[in-house]
Amino acid sequence: MNLPKKSLGQNFLIDKNITKKIIKLSNIENKHVVEIGPGKGSLTDEILTQKPKSLIIIEKDQELANYLKEKYNKIKKVKVFNNDILKFNIEKITKKNSIIFGNLPYNISSQILVKIIKFKKWPPNFLSLIFMFQKELGDKIIAPNNSKNYGRLSILTSLRLFVVEKFLVSANCFRPRPKVMSMVIYFRPKRKSKKIKNISNLEKITNIFFSNKRKMIKKNIKKILNNENIKKISGLNLYARPSELSQETYYKITQLYEND
Ligand code: SAM
Repeated sequence: MNLPKKSLGQNFLIDKNITKKIIKLSNIENKHVVEIGPGKGSLTDEILTQKPKSLIIIEKDQELANYLKEKYNKIKKVKVFNNDILKFNIEKITKKNSIIFGNLPYNISSQILVKIIKFKKWPPNFLSLIFMFQKELGDKIIAPNNSKNYGRLSILTSLRLFVVEKFLVSANCFRPRPKVMSMVIYFRPKRKSKKIKNISNLEKITNIFFSNKRKMIKKNIKKILNNENIKKISGLNLYARPSELSQETYYKITQLYEND
């Protein structure tokens, strides 16, 4: 096999204790499972020990996909797709009561998360979502308001997902060894998520506010809402900084923007 491709974020998990710890987060037996970026199959092998009903794996690297097709050739319930996850209709192939796993390629992991948050049907078909990110990104995803990492990603994530569990993984557990630590996050979908017509509007609005974190919200909010709508947000302090506003306030701003 060729050398690991940096452009595809290929850092393979080699520590069996960690693959076991990830897999044990949820009960796989008899469930449909989807795995994004299986690589050489270290998580995949561990998933199979837990007897899933079916297993779909999506790998962009053609050489790895061919290797996996060969490796799992005799196991009927495994289906290998040689596709780019960003162009692949993952929502369509995710069956009811599935679990989605992924030790994600670091360069596109936030795009993959956002793609899943934007699923058309909500609550979605999956029960659990278990992803590994670089720690810095993980910190942004789970950040509460009033903290330094709070922003677009944490606001988007908590619209539709909640964190059940998380843990850190040392860079020594991978080959090649990445420069930074990783974080595994186990999410579940929120059954009742706030009604926003188009999540891209929430992205747009958070981008406007967080493009300058130090700036008071007064000027920017006026670009988005008229005075009458601004008054509908109870307790809004126009002199606050973007990180002081709760997630709920950003959802409310987006709803008012959409209904205007
Ligand atoms: N799951 C394996 C493991 O834990 O050892 C590999 C994880 S590695 C961090 C990320 C994997 O995602 C690589 O195998 C890489 O080729 C694959 N990948 C990168 N970009 C992808 C894309 N756009 N769509 C699908 N797979 C991708």
